[in-house]
Amino acid sequence: MRHHTDRIAFGSSEIVYRIDRTSRRRTIAITVNPDASVNVVAPSGTRSSRIATTVGKKAEWILKQKDWFSRNARVYRRRLVSGESLLHLGRQYQLKVVLLAGQKAIPHVTLTHGTLMVTLPRRWAASRRRSDIRSALIEWYSKRAESYLAPLIQRYADHLAVKYTSIQIRNMRTRWGSGGVSGRLRFNWRILMAPRRLIEYIVAHELCHIRYSDHSQAFWRLLSQVMPDHERRRNELEINGLKYDF
Ligand SMILES: [Zn+2]
Repeated sequence: MRHHTDRIAFGSSEIVYRIDRTSRRRTIAITVNPDASVNVVAPSGTRSSRIATTVGKKAEWILKQKDWFSRNARVYRRRLVSGESLLHLGRQYQLKVVLLAGQKAIPHVTLTHGTLMVTLPRRWAASRRRSDIRSALIEWYSKRAESYLAPLIQRYADHLAVKYTSIQIRNMRTRWGSGGVSGRLRFNWRILMAPRRLIEYIVAHELCHIRYSDHSQAFWRLLSQVMPDHERRRNELEINGLKYDF
């Protein structure tokens, strides 16, 4: 793909965007990235003026996305250093990173008195610290998720009279969980950052997929039976969801 950047003015704002032209596309697609950059992918041969017109038509939407990302940027990617805060079941905990000397030191995470402490071997390379801390935290959140979710899933499964066959906690990029007629349930470890009422929504939602694989009226009716306010919880998850990551 060949690319270059272009720009248009919209009101008092300017939108700078990167253009990629490719023969693999038939229509123009615009994406706004978390770092507020804008990408346009267009079919090869599309003239720049036509792309500018399309971007102009979508300008309001683009600015809205950029604004949303900039408001949430602070929580979007953390440095994972002492003093930052991390969410656990909807509450903020202060992160504390402790380096431990000695050959026997191993990564370890504990949650006590409002502090989420990550211990790492001092001998490990500083350049890899962020990813080491992240791995330790993901493992910890995943383990917590296992024990936290089990009774919750059981309770909602009983209410809904559905049977599940297995529960897995996974690192999922784009979804909170999945469930299907096979009875297999999968949940993203990130949901443990959300408050309980949103975790309940995700659990009940995926359990309903054991009965109905789609989002048909029957699906929502079933969910309403055990969670009459599911729509409110779903909206809240949509608004706050981006915070549940690090
Ligand atoms: Zn669904």
